[in-house]
Amino acid sequence: MTNSQNNPVRAPTPEAIAEAGALLRAGNLVAIPTETVYGLAGDATDDRAVARIFAAKERPSFNPLIVHVAEIAAAREIVRFDARAEDLVARFWPGPLTLVLPRIEGCAVSLLAGAGLDSLALRMPDHETARAVIAAAGRPLAAPSANPSGKVSTTTAAHVAEALAGRIAMVLDGGPCRIGLESTVLDLTGPRAVLLRPGGLPKEAIEAVLGPLEEAGTDGSAPRGPGQLSSHYATSLPLRLNAEAARADEALIAFGPDIPAGAAETRNLSPAGDLEEAAANLFATMRALDRSEFRAIAVMAIPETGLGRAINDRLRRAAAPRDNSTSESPPLAGSAALG
Ligand code: AMP
Ligand code: MG
Repeated sequence: MTNSQNNPVRAPTPEAIAEAGALLRAGNLVAIPTETVYGLAGDATDDRAVARIFAAKERPSFNPLIVHVAEIAAAREIVRFDARAEDLVARFWPGPLTLVLPRIEGCAVSLLAGAGLDSLALRMPDHETARAVIAAAGRPLAAPSANPSGKVSTTTAAHVAEALAGRIAMVLDGGPCRIGLESTVLDLTGPRAVLLRPGGLPKEAIEAVLGPLEEAGTDGSAPRGPGQLSSHYATSLPLRLNAEAARADEALIAFGPDIPAGAAETRNLSPAGDLEEAAANLFATMRALDRSEFRAIAVMAIPETGLGRAINDRLRRAAAPRDNSTSESPPLAGSAALG
């Protein structure tokens, strides 16, 4: 019997990998080595597991996470590949290249993992243990860097255990990461390929395949112009935050046991007032109520603690006045840098 509370670090034996797979299937978090940095992995198809990732990192916002697959065929079941994607994965997967591609219809990956967007970031890591754990879990894994938000990425199992002590079920020790830098993130959702984040795969290597790349702004936003993409999901309907009463022409996003009556339609993020459950339901709820038959979406106050901070961050972005000719939401300083 392993003492996973006090010492969750395990050598990547076949037994430990099978255990990691079972833990992940049950919704737990496992830190895994990759060739870039250690990843804080959870079942990408399970909203609650993904909410736990954000909670463990104490991320103040829901940035989209990278979804990890063990083989190219698994990626094709989640996102739509085009010729550029086929060329790139043939050359660079497994490896430190993350592709942002459109979700396929009926995609099984949690909306929270993609922060509500129609696209998903995907990668196949060049690390045997990482791929073995994904295969043992039998599903794609969402895995941001295994560090608390605002702290540097971790590149050894000991750093992970120290940084996330008590918050994860297991850390698989794959030794120091070979590359030690995050993956390069390339957006292929528009007609022009856009480099969203420089990383372990040099830009020149990609340009040798696709020709010159556009580069995203330093705040992580895509360039303005045709094919531009926002890295944040927002509703088309206006949001009315901190609503205390419901209006007959509004949809209501409720939270907790005491909710006002009278809205045209009400969905409760968590009748029990559980912020993790609320986070897990947030994007599906926003999408379900974003219908032109309502004048607006009213949202009850959400406590500004734990995951409530990230929920409120997303609601405030979606409620902020928009300029449709540029981006869907205002850039927030420092939100994309670390975490
Ligand atoms: P991390 O998981 O911390 O390594 O960071 C993932 C990076 O990929 C961040 O820079 C995200 O903004 C970016 N990313 C992930 N998914 C998407 C997406 N669907 N659209 C745009 N950027 C994304
Ligand atoms: Mg990170």
